[in-house]
Amino acid sequence: MDIIGIDLGTTNSVATVYTENGLKHISFDGDFLLPSVVNVSDEGVIVGIKAKNMAMIAEDNTAISVKRVIGTDEKLTLNGKEFTPEEVSSFIIKKIITTAKQEMGTEYKRCVVTVPAYFNENQREATSQAVKLAGLEVLRVINEPTAAAIAYGADRDDEMMYGVYDLGGGTFDISIIENSEGLIEVLSTTGDNNLGGDDFDNKLATLIWEKSEFDIPLTKKLKIKLNQVAEKTKISLSSEDSVDIDEKFFAKREGEPLHLEVKVTKEEFEELIQKDIDKTIDLLLDTVEEANCDIDELEAIILTGGSSRIPLISNKILERIGKLPILIEDPDKSVSIGAILQGAMIEGVDTDSILVDITPYSLGTSALSIDYSMDEVLSKIILKNTPVPTSKTSRYHAVVEFQEAFKIDIYQGEDEDNLEQNYKIGDMLLKVKEPVEDGAIDVTFSLNQNGMLSVIGKEIHTDEIINGKFKTKISKSTQHSKVKEMDILSDHDQTIIAKIDKVLDSDILDEDKDDLKELRAKYVSAKSEEKESLEEEIIDTIFFLEDSIANGV
Ligand code: AMP
Repeated sequence: MDIIGIDLGTTNSVATVYTENGLKHISFDGDFLLPSVVNVSDEGVIVGIKAKNMAMIAEDNTAISVKRVIGTDEKLTLNGKEFTPEEVSSFIIKKIITTAKQEMGTEYKRCVVTVPAYFNENQREATSQAVKLAGLEVLRVINEPTAAAIAYGADRDDEMMYGVYDLGGGTFDISIIENSEGLIEVLSTTGDNNLGGDDFDNKLATLIWEKSEFDIPLTKKLKIKLNQVAEKTKISLSSEDSVDIDEKFFAKREGEPLHLEVKVTKEEFEELIQKDIDKTIDLLLDTVEEANCDIDELEAIILTGGSSRIPLISNKILERIGKLPILIEDPDKSVSIGAILQGAMIEGVDTDSILVDITPYSLGTSALSIDYSMDEVLSKIILKNTPVPTSKTSRYHAVVEFQEAFKIDIYQGEDEDNLEQNYKIGDMLLKVKEPVEDGAIDVTFSLNQNGMLSVIGKEIHTDEIINGKFKTKISKSTQHSKVKEMDILSDHDQTIIAKIDKVLDSDILDEDKDDLKELRAKYVSAKSEEKESLEEEIIDTIFFLEDSIANGV
């Protein structure tokens, strides 16, 4: 089967394939988690743990957490070149498929990719573009908690209703699922596209920085290093009551090294994230209400996503809901497993399960308020939590005689009274072929199984179909030839060496130059197993030298 399941995460990505012997997770530098980090230099593009390490010495050429800006018109400048978020994401997917080909000997051509359930239309479209740019066909886009539900429920015969609580690196999603006789039905879904482990890292980093009492500016470079320490500390605090951070040579002041020696307790960390966790539980309760069910009807709350390992989450759910949630054995893998199982279902390999997913948002158009206040309001066409695929039609009457065109503004959201509280996903102009005195058109909104929207109009007078151009923020894939031609480097020796040479060319002390030259020579002749620790040393050395140059010492 040439299908690959991809969980394109904010912090890490995971890919799973279907083999005769069962499911297999693709391995990247010895780990199934591929850090979603991209580094672009003159030498080429690197993705994963090596790019994450490079972030410390090449922060301007490295993209971290690109998923947070996918579907926006923000551009990322890496090594002097401008990229869209979907282009940067396509590098991550390219890395996945080239590694999968090397490992499995199969050329994967189609993919089931996952997105947070609460991703809007532009974010879904941009994710889809990223897949296509990497040269893959998008077989299906599915929601992450739905994928986790498939992984959990696909082989269960028992009828049950459960919640899937998915807290990852950058997003939170909650879905209520009903399983019966192989039917996995999503009843309601809610979330927050800007809440996840990255936010906890930021909060913890601020605390650690305050406690350090370092009297130096927190540069962008240092902030990256500090966040990496914060993430490590956060993960340790999931199993320990306190952590003694001991990072020697963390920074420099006036040429003297500063060691980061700070103690953080679990209690302090929990205090920082308390409100965020409460918010996720409020959303969980809202989602249960939207599913028209009672919290007692839920047989379980399944926790997935890396951040769900934080013990405060289980404790809070138990405290507020009275249920002890179930942590999926491998919460980092379940979304990717669900993606490939969905691929297998589509291919008919595993026909026992059928998935019915829903739209997490209402979709509609702007309209004038019927109270003649002339305020613009949201007129919903497809309602939140409607199963997909679906199609709904609404009639629009002309406001002037012989009106030649209808401009349709398309919105996503729930606030019917305040249009500006909703998210505008695009607009289209429907030109009428035969304008008449009292013209009208029918506008049909169709959502496909990927949760993606298409809109067409029909002239009432002539029954003629009008296809307007649906303008969104996302440009189309074929225009992005530059990333299609850029290959992903399988190793990054040349990137490291080029970086060393650049630093050697800069204005540093002779003794530092000699040290660096020595490291360079060792690195060039090192065996591959020795390279990892040497790289760490090189990165630390360069980090210090550049920090000194930046601070003029
Ligand atoms: P995901 O997007 O599901 O891969 O989740 C990634 C997030 O989970 C990152 O913010 C990680 O720091 C976080 N994470 C992974 N393991 C743990 C852990 N044991 N405790 C707390 N957070 C974790």
